[in-house]
Amino acid sequence: MKVAIMGAGLSGLACAITLEKQGVVPTIFEKRSKVGDRFVNGEAFLPALNRPIKDCYAYLAEKHGIYLQPLNNIRKMIISSENDRAVLHGQLGFLNIRGRDEDSLEFQLYKQVKSEIIFNSQYTYENLLQNFTHVIVATGDAAYTAKIQDFTQDLTVTLKGATVEGTFDKRHVGIWLDNTIAPQGYAYLLPFSEKEATIALGYPDYPHNQKFDIKSLWNKFYHRVCKEIEQELRITDQFEVTRYIIGICSAPRLANTFFTGNCFGAIMPAYGFGQLAAILTGIYAAQDLCGLGNYFELTKPLRQSYKNSLALRRAVEQLDNHKLDLLVKLINTNLANSLITTPNLNLLGFLGFVLRPYLLKRV
Ligand SMILES: Cc1cc2nc3c(=O)[nH]c(=O)nc-3n(C[C@H](O)[C@H](O)[C@H](O)COP(=O)(O)OP(=O)(O)OC[C@H]3O[C@@H](n4cnc5c(N)ncnc54)[C@H](O)[C@@H]3O)c2cc1C
Repeated sequence: MKVAIMGAGLSGLACAITLEKQGVVPTIFEKRSKVGDRFVNGEAFLPALNRPIKDCYAYLAEKHGIYLQPLNNIRKMIISSENDRAVLHGQLGFLNIRGRDEDSLEFQLYKQVKSEIIFNSQYTYENLLQNFTHVIVATGDAAYTAKIQDFTQDLTVTLKGATVEGTFDKRHVGIWLDNTIAPQGYAYLLPFSEKEATIALGYPDYPHNQKFDIKSLWNKFYHRVCKEIEQELRITDQFEVTRYIIGICSAPRLANTFFTGNCFGAIMPAYGFGQLAAILTGIYAAQDLCGLGNYFELTKPLRQSYKNSLALRRAVEQLDNHKLDLLVKLINTNLANSLITTPNLNLLGFLGFVLRPYLLKRV
């Protein structure tokens, strides 16, 4: 068996590590000149959306022998709407860093890989199929999958973010649900040290959202964050992602080609969490290749989570700012607080079931 992996990101590297454990040495082809050679940004794992997995770091280590470390635990989350605010406390999740940083998640995976990585690769999957028995498409780019097979694109998103310098509590994150700064989307602050954080906003590119000017939304958001945390944040780096595709492929495997990570449909529609599903799809593709499972079956729960997450997004997208205020008020009650923080409740499954009529709603 000769396996080529296209893309040395989360799913490609997780796939390589799992193959190596079974004695299969893949060749990895990476478009960029280094692993993680892109903007630095803080990202998060929220266990409430990944249950029954409670602690993804422990799960990946114990179940799959993949060792990663978070930057920090999330102990406090402040969710703000236009006029209200909810505060959640507890073990709410984990923060990590991505991109050009020695501690980034992709860099941590890279250190566990022994296989050869061919950088600056220009190969297409068709090229690779001529010399390899199997190809793993792990390019992080769902548009690439859409060129090869049916891919249901549910939405695309515009994202704008920045690295800011200030003084932060490394365990506290902020989320804003406010249509005047992120119409039908959300904005966030994720610290990656006591002095640096990512602030970002994202909203769907629906035709009726085209009237918004990203620069003025950004200015509003930036000033609001500065005002709320009472600091003049200094922007040291910026990024913008346009038409980020959220959708899911119809066939996780087509003959001897496997689609992993975003190329499978790892990004959860509510609200862009894709890291855990990306790593898991890489592991599952490797398990299928090594006769330890069936990729189609193994990815079924991820497909269901995608659907549940889409129902949640569609429901929240209907809410105007007044209703978002009410939602935030509700989140601030003890009952909602404990539903979110109770580790044994499959929150996404429950919400997906309750909100499934919204799957039919087009926004
Ligand atoms: C701004 C932003 C914020 C996010 N925040 C979060 C968050 O907080 N929590 C969360 O869980 N998820 C988050 N996500 C989603 C998450 O980052 C992705 O779902 C995840 O990284 C996808 O992993 P992947 O393996 O598919 O792709 P990636 O990890 O992106 O890796 C793809 C690799 O393939 C390479 N490549 C591309 N094209 C080719 C080619 N033709 N040939 C060879 N190599 C190629 C790329 O250079 C890259 O190295 C966020 C995404 C963005 C954009």
